[in-house]
Amino acid sequence: KLPNATAKAELGRASWKLLHTMAARFPEHPTEDQRDTFKSFLFLFSRLYPCGECAAEFQQLLRKHPPQTSSRASASLYLCHLHNLVNARLGKDEYDCGTNLRDVYDCGCGDEEEKERK
Ligand code: FAD
Repeated sequence: KLPNATAKAELGRASWKLLHTMAARFPEHPTEDQRDTFKSFLFLFSRLYPCGECAAEFQQLLRKHPPQTSSRASASLYLCHLHNLVNARLGKDEYDCGTNLRDVYDCGCGDEEEKERK
Protein backbone atom coordinates (compact mmCIF):
# COMPACT_ATOMS: atom_id res chain seq x y z
CA LYS A 1 0.00 0.00 0.00
CA LEU A 2 1.18 3.56 -0.79
CA PRO A 3 2.16 5.90 2.00
CA ASN A 4 -0.64 8.28 2.96
CA ALA A 5 0.64 11.66 4.16
CA THR A 6 -2.79 12.77 5.38
CA ALA A 7 -3.23 9.77 7.66
CA LYS A 8 0.35 10.08 8.89
CA ALA A 9 -0.16 13.76 9.78
CA GLU A 10 -3.44 12.97 11.52
CA LEU A 11 -1.78 10.29 13.60
CA GLY A 12 0.92 12.82 14.47
CA ARG A 13 -1.55 15.47 15.60
CA ALA A 14 -3.53 12.98 17.69
CA SER A 15 -0.33 11.68 19.26
CA TRP A 16 1.07 15.09 20.10
CA LYS A 17 -2.28 16.05 21.58
CA LEU A 18 -2.20 13.04 23.87
CA LEU A 19 1.43 13.56 24.85
CA HIS A 20 1.07 17.30 25.59
CA THR A 21 -2.17 16.73 27.49
CA MET A 22 -0.53 14.06 29.61
CA ALA A 23 2.33 16.44 30.42
CA ALA A 24 -0.09 19.30 31.20
CA ARG A 25 -1.88 17.02 33.70
CA PHE A 26 1.30 15.58 35.16
CA PRO A 27 1.49 16.19 38.95
CA GLU A 28 3.21 19.35 40.12
CA HIS A 29 5.06 17.25 42.66
CA PRO A 30 5.39 13.77 41.15
CA THR A 31 6.45 10.74 43.15
CA GLU A 32 9.40 8.65 41.97
CA ASP A 33 6.91 6.11 40.63
CA GLN A 34 5.03 8.77 38.64
CA ARG A 35 8.31 10.08 37.24
CA ASP A 36 9.43 6.59 36.21
CA THR A 37 6.05 5.91 34.64
CA PHE A 38 6.16 9.04 32.48
CA LYS A 39 9.69 8.34 31.34
CA SER A 40 8.98 4.67 30.58
CA PHE A 41 5.82 5.63 28.74
CA LEU A 42 7.74 7.91 26.38
CA PHE A 43 10.35 5.25 25.62
CA LEU A 44 7.72 2.54 25.10
CA PHE A 45 5.62 4.94 23.00
CA SER A 46 8.63 5.61 20.78
CA ARG A 47 9.07 1.88 20.22
CA LEU A 48 5.43 1.27 19.35
CA TYR A 49 4.78 4.41 17.30
CA PRO A 50 3.20 3.08 14.09
CA CYS A 51 5.24 5.20 11.62
CA GLY A 52 8.58 3.44 11.46
CA GLU A 53 10.66 6.38 10.28
CA CYS A 54 9.09 8.64 12.93
CA ALA A 55 9.65 6.02 15.64
CA ALA A 56 13.35 5.65 14.81
CA GLU A 57 13.89 9.41 14.84
CA PHE A 58 11.94 9.80 18.06
CA GLN A 59 13.98 7.09 19.80
CA GLN A 60 17.17 8.93 18.87
CA LEU A 61 15.73 12.22 20.14
CA LEU A 62 14.79 10.62 23.47
CA ARG A 63 18.27 9.19 23.90
CA LYS A 64 19.86 12.54 23.14
CA HIS A 65 17.37 14.48 25.28
CA PRO A 66 16.33 12.32 28.25
CA PRO A 67 12.82 13.00 29.61
CA GLN A 68 12.54 15.75 32.25
CA THR A 69 10.06 14.65 34.87
CA SER A 70 10.76 16.58 38.08
CA SER A 71 7.51 18.60 37.86
CA ARG A 72 4.55 19.36 35.64
CA ALA A 73 6.30 22.47 34.34
CA SER A 74 9.49 20.62 33.45
CA ALA A 75 7.61 17.75 31.78
CA SER A 76 5.45 20.16 29.75
CA LEU A 77 8.38 22.33 28.68
CA TYR A 78 10.49 19.29 27.88
CA LEU A 79 7.82 17.88 25.58
CA CYS A 80 7.30 21.28 23.97
CA HIS A 81 11.02 21.47 23.18
CA LEU A 82 11.05 17.91 21.90
CA HIS A 83 8.11 18.65 19.61
CA ASN A 84 9.95 21.76 18.41
CA LEU A 85 12.94 19.60 17.47
CA VAL A 86 10.60 17.46 15.36
CA ASN A 87 9.02 20.64 13.94
CA ALA A 88 12.46 21.91 12.94
CA ARG A 89 13.39 18.63 11.27
CA LEU A 90 10.14 18.72 9.29
CA GLY A 91 10.61 22.40 8.36
CA LYS A 92 7.69 23.60 10.51
CA ASP A 93 7.48 26.79 12.56
CA GLU A 94 8.77 26.82 16.12
CA TYR A 95 5.99 26.78 18.72
CA ASP A 96 6.13 29.32 21.57
CA CYS A 97 6.62 27.16 24.67
CA GLY A 98 6.02 30.25 26.84
CA THR A 99 2.27 30.00 26.23
CA ASN A 100 0.15 28.50 28.98
CA LEU A 101 0.38 24.85 27.96
CA ARG A 102 -1.94 23.82 30.77
CA ASP A 103 -4.77 25.90 29.28
CA VAL A 104 -4.00 24.92 25.69
CA TYR A 105 -3.96 21.24 26.62
CA ASP A 106 -7.02 21.09 28.84
CA CYS A 107 -8.25 17.51 28.85
CA GLY A 108 -11.79 18.59 29.76
CA CYS A 109 -11.89 15.82 32.32
CA GLY A 110 -13.09 18.06 35.14
CA ASP A 111 -11.36 15.93 37.76
CA GLU A 112 -7.87 17.42 37.87
CA GLU A 113 -8.05 18.99 41.31
CA GLU A 114 -9.53 15.84 42.80
CA LYS A 115 -6.87 13.65 41.23
CA GLU A 116 -4.16 16.00 42.45
CA ARG A 117 -5.27 15.48 46.08
CA LYS A 118 -5.13 11.67 45.90
P1 FAD B 1 1.70 18.99 14.72
O1 FAD B 1 3.19 19.06 14.72
O2 FAD B 1 1.05 17.65 14.66
O3 FAD B 1 1.17 19.76 16.00
C1 FAD B 1 -0.22 19.76 16.32
C2 FAD B 1 -0.54 21.06 17.02
O4 FAD B 1 0.20 21.12 18.23
C3 FAD B 1 -0.13 22.31 16.25
O5 FAD B 1 -1.12 22.70 15.37
C4 FAD B 1 0.11 23.30 17.36
O6 FAD B 1 -1.14 23.86 17.79
C5 FAD B 1 0.61 22.45 18.49
N1 FAD B 1 2.08 22.45 18.60
C6 FAD B 1 3.00 22.54 17.63
N2 FAD B 1 4.23 22.50 18.14
C7 FAD B 1 4.09 22.37 19.47
C8 FAD B 1 5.01 22.28 20.55
N3 FAD B 1 6.33 22.32 20.35
N4 FAD B 1 4.52 22.14 21.80
C9 FAD B 1 3.19 22.12 22.02
N5 FAD B 1 2.27 22.20 21.05
C10 FAD B 1 2.72 22.33 19.78
N6 FAD B 1 6.03 13.16 10.67
C11 FAD B 1 6.90 12.94 9.65
O7 FAD B 1 6.58 13.21 8.50
N7 FAD B 1 8.16 12.42 9.92
C12 FAD B 1 8.56 12.11 11.18
O8 FAD B 1 9.68 11.64 11.38
C13 FAD B 1 7.63 12.32 12.25
N8 FAD B 1 7.97 11.99 13.53
C14 FAD B 1 7.04 12.11 14.51
C15 FAD B 1 7.35 11.69 15.80
C16 FAD B 1 6.40 11.74 16.82
C17 FAD B 1 6.73 11.25 18.18
C18 FAD B 1 5.10 12.26 16.55
C19 FAD B 1 4.07 12.30 17.63
C20 FAD B 1 4.80 12.69 15.27
C21 FAD B 1 5.75 12.63 14.25
N9 FAD B 1 5.45 13.06 12.95
C22 FAD B 1 6.36 12.86 11.94
C23 FAD B 1 4.20 13.79 12.67
C24 FAD B 1 4.45 15.31 12.73
O9 FAD B 1 5.16 15.66 13.91
C25 FAD B 1 3.14 16.10 12.74
O10 FAD B 1 2.29 15.62 13.77
C26 FAD B 1 2.38 16.06 11.43
O11 FAD B 1 3.24 16.39 10.36
C27 FAD B 1 1.18 17.06 11.46
O12 FAD B 1 1.74 18.35 11.64
P2 FAD B 1 0.93 19.65 12.00
O13 FAD B 1 1.62 20.77 11.29
O14 FAD B 1 -0.52 19.47 11.75
O15 FAD B 1 1.14 19.92 13.57
